[in-house]
Amino acid sequence: MTTPIALLRELGRGFVRLLYPGVCHVCAAPLPPEQDRFCSSCRDALTTDPFSSCPRCAATIGPFAFATLAEGCPRCWHSAFRFERVLRLGSYEGLLRDVILRLKHLSGDVLAELVGELWAERAEAKLREVRADAVVPIPLHWRRRWSRGYNQSLALARGLAARLRLPCRAGWLRRVRSTPMQTALAPSARRDNVRGAFRTPVKVPQTATILLVDDVMTTGSTASEAAGALLAAGAGRVVLSVLARAHG
Ligand SMILES: [Zn+2]
Ligand SMILES: [Zn+2]
Repeated sequence: MTTPIALLRELGRGFVRLLYPGVCHVCAAPLPPEQDRFCSSCRDALTTDPFSSCPRCAATIGPFAFATLAEGCPRCWHSAFRFERVLRLGSYEGLLRDVILRLKHLSGDVLAELVGELWAERAEAKLREVRADAVVPIPLHWRRRWSRGYNQSLALARGLAARLRLPCRAGWLRRVRSTPMQTALAPSARRDNVRGAFRTPVKVPQTATILLVDDVMTTGSTASEAAGALLAAGAGRVVLSVLARAHG
């Protein structure tokens, strides 16, 4: 059933299409009439992941990694994540990196939602294998959300959830502590920095499987802390999906 909010959002998207008919949302190239949202070269550049990745932490692994990676890779052997595994659209480089930076610096919620849809379109089989009951974005602290104007992970999660026909439950996770930017910190300091940063204000349905969504994963400590809060509130499994995996 279409909810009034979903209907309004669909109307909003129709309005954007009216304003920018037939133009790629990334490079602004004119689109042929049969194409929608992105030109084929941006679509390919955003969704082609030429590398194999670790099934546990989604780090890029070399082409000669013959050993079984079910237990993880050298980047994650020493990390105790609270999420079960990580799915990624690609690596944090090239056009995918450019688009993520645009999402962070402009009020790019329409673009973020369209990228979320594209992501789900491209990785639909892998995402469905998770058998998630709900999609939950990593929240921003209200102060950062206020200065940026929106939460890019929420817009991505909405796009993913719409395509996968799953509920998007942003209210299941709150950021209760504003934390300094993780990028300036060493990995062990990142874990301390995010400890206790999330709360679940509602009771999560027991044993629910959650697809947790973020734009970029670097060490995984923020997402792991968020996953821990969801598990403590009753969730059965948390699988993380990130637009891009960075190797910081
Ligand atoms: Zn384009
Ligand atoms: Zn790994």
